[in-house]
Amino acid sequence: LRERKLIVHIIPFENRRQILVTHDITETERIEMMRRDFIANASHELRTPLTVINGFLEIALGQPDMDRETRCAHLKLMAEQGQRMQNLVEDMLSLTRLESVEYPLRPEPVRMGSLLEGVRKEGEALSSGRHEITLELDGPDIRGSAEELRSAFGNLVSNAVRYTPDGGQIWISWKASAAGPCFSVRDTGIGIRPEHISRLTERFYRVDKGRSRETRGTGLGLAIVKHVLLRHGAQLHIESRPEVGSTFTVCFPPQLAVEQEASALSV
Ligand code: ADP
Repeated sequence: LRERKLIVHIIPFENRRQILVTHDITETERIEMMRRDFIANASHELRTPLTVINGFLEIALGQPDMDRETRCAHLKLMAEQGQRMQNLVEDMLSLTRLESVEYPLRPEPVRMGSLLEGVRKEGEALSSGRHEITLELDGPDIRGSAEELRSAFGNLVSNAVRYTPDGGQIWISWKASAAGPCFSVRDTGIGIRPEHISRLTERFYRVDKGRSRETRGTGLGLAIVKHVLLRHGAQLHIESRPEVGSTFTVCFPPQLAVEQEASALSV
């Protein structure tokens, strides 16, 4: 058990009687610590690309006659860093929205076939032919947020591509099961050692920071997945073996499944 911290207020009441009011600040402190960590991590993540951009700008200002080829190379590197900052800011905004009580889930029937076909295409675009990606579709449509589900499944597929060496395979599947409809993505990638698995959905937690950045990771993908799944009452299960590959499985409550003949499905 963790030590608890209480604030005790003693308030005088009716002559000699007193009221004791206690306020448990253990949880408040934990949230405050998480908030501080998040701001520190996010600032650090933004500082690196900003330093690179400012460095190149200074060089460009100091060398107005720089040759065209060098200037183009510098502009390309600056554009990459700009994109990195944009990805990070967009992921931070998504997380904030997903956590906000003012932004409740508005479930609608979602056509899983076309949604997952889109997710596979995005995975293929990211892989640019370096992996074989297959999709097996054998599950029902469900009620949920198409936008959020696309983002969660997209993050899982993008991770499979980014953490699988060239020539590897990725299997995406959507199936009905006794536990409810399940999405899974399996890869023949670098895998994850067991001691990391329970921490992967923490914001900015990475097994290998260098590799995550090289492959344009923001470190927030699985935190976004976790929040989307929480909002849909779904469970995430991760199985992985280093050097062999990983399987990320997401199972939704059976009651989210909708009749196939339902009309006006979104997506
Ligand atoms: P990132 O942007 O760093 O990929 P994520 O939150 O998506 O952030 O993932 C957190 C970490 O989990 C990654 O940095 C990586 O170490 C690990 N990870 C996620 N998916 C996979 C996978 N399919 N194979 C191996 N490692 C993975």
